[in-house]
Amino acid sequence: MKQHRLSELTELICEPVKKIVITTHHKPDGDAIGSSLGLYNALIQLGHEVQVITPNDYGAFLHWMPGDETVIEFESTPEKALPFIEAADLIFCLDFNDLKRVNELGAHIQKSNAGKVLIDHHLDPPGFEDYTYHDTTASSTCELVYRFLYSLELEDFIDAHVSACLYTGIMTDTGSFKFPATSPQVHRIVADLMERGANHTHIHQLVYDQMGENVLRFLGHCFSQKLTVLPEFKTAYFVVTAAELEQFDLKTGDTEGLVNYALNLTGIRFAALIIDRTKLVKMSFRSKGQVPANEFARTWFEGGGHFNAAGGQSSDTLEATEKRFLAALTEFAPKILTAEN
Ligand code: 5GP
Ligand code: MN
Repeated sequence: MKQHRLSELTELICEPVKKIVITTHHKPDGDAIGSSLGLYNALIQLGHEVQVITPNDYGAFLHWMPGDETVIEFESTPEKALPFIEAADLIFCLDFNDLKRVNELGAHIQKSNAGKVLIDHHLDPPGFEDYTYHDTTASSTCELVYRFLYSLELEDFIDAHVSACLYTGIMTDTGSFKFPATSPQVHRIVADLMERGANHTHIHQLVYDQMGENVLRFLGHCFSQKLTVLPEFKTAYFVVTAAELEQFDLKTGDTEGLVNYALNLTGIRFAALIIDRTKLVKMSFRSKGQVPANEFARTWFEGGGHFNAAGGQSSDTLEATEKRFLAALTEFAPKILTAEN
């Protein structure tokens, strides 16, 4: 694990009132919002002025976390967000390591004179930050925020609010405690979070049992009409058009999780979701075992990510992108077919 200048940071954070901005990646997921609001709820107890700023909006299933009502979305209200960035003493960058992942917000963070603290578990941090808490073996950024608070001897501030937020991100980033990064340490952390007040049943319901009827019907449509299974490549994928997103009235976050269903199939090791987001075609890749989804994303679709969960994009049409995906798959196939579990 990389830990740069943590003792210096302890002094900074434990001194009275700082203006702190916490930010996270584009289209924030459970780990992004959980880590941001988990850290927010801890730091406000120290008396700091803390503002969470997201690059854009996020799913309704994440809007219940304590402090959510204070979050500013940069894309819709940059005029609200910019004064906080300009005045910040410290900016926390959570769950990303490349300023491209925060869109236009990236240039403002880069420009700011604030100390920048990176807490993240993605590969290859590029080094824009002043302080680093980075571990690619961690299950989630929420796990790292938990460990970060302990490192700074701030564990007494991990109350029921902080615990609920951190539990959420660990749960979503580990696929509810099943992905390989779910170490014994993760279960110990989760046990501690439960003892500190995280209500696991309630949180699972808030995140997973809040689906609109339109979304369930969209999933049904995808399963019956939009799934292609290629047993010879141990691959299955969905292609979704912009018209379908409109027809089912889908909102941000509603397609999250769809790609994972393709991995539920017996014998399937690699899965993709190809969606026409109008301005560009967005792709999600998931894999099992030693199949490098991030290498596939990086090599053919200007993307990257984790070993088993990655994403990319294409500026071709949906049809051309699918063709390119199939061509890439032919080249990539040996890695899928020979990979160990
Ligand atoms: P998702 O499929 O949920 O959008 O993304 C899965 C993971 O892939 C994310 O956690 C992120 O690490 C990575 N990812 C998604 N899209 C991109 C992209 O366009 N570029 C890069 N470098 N990583 C991405
Ligand atoms: Mn994460």
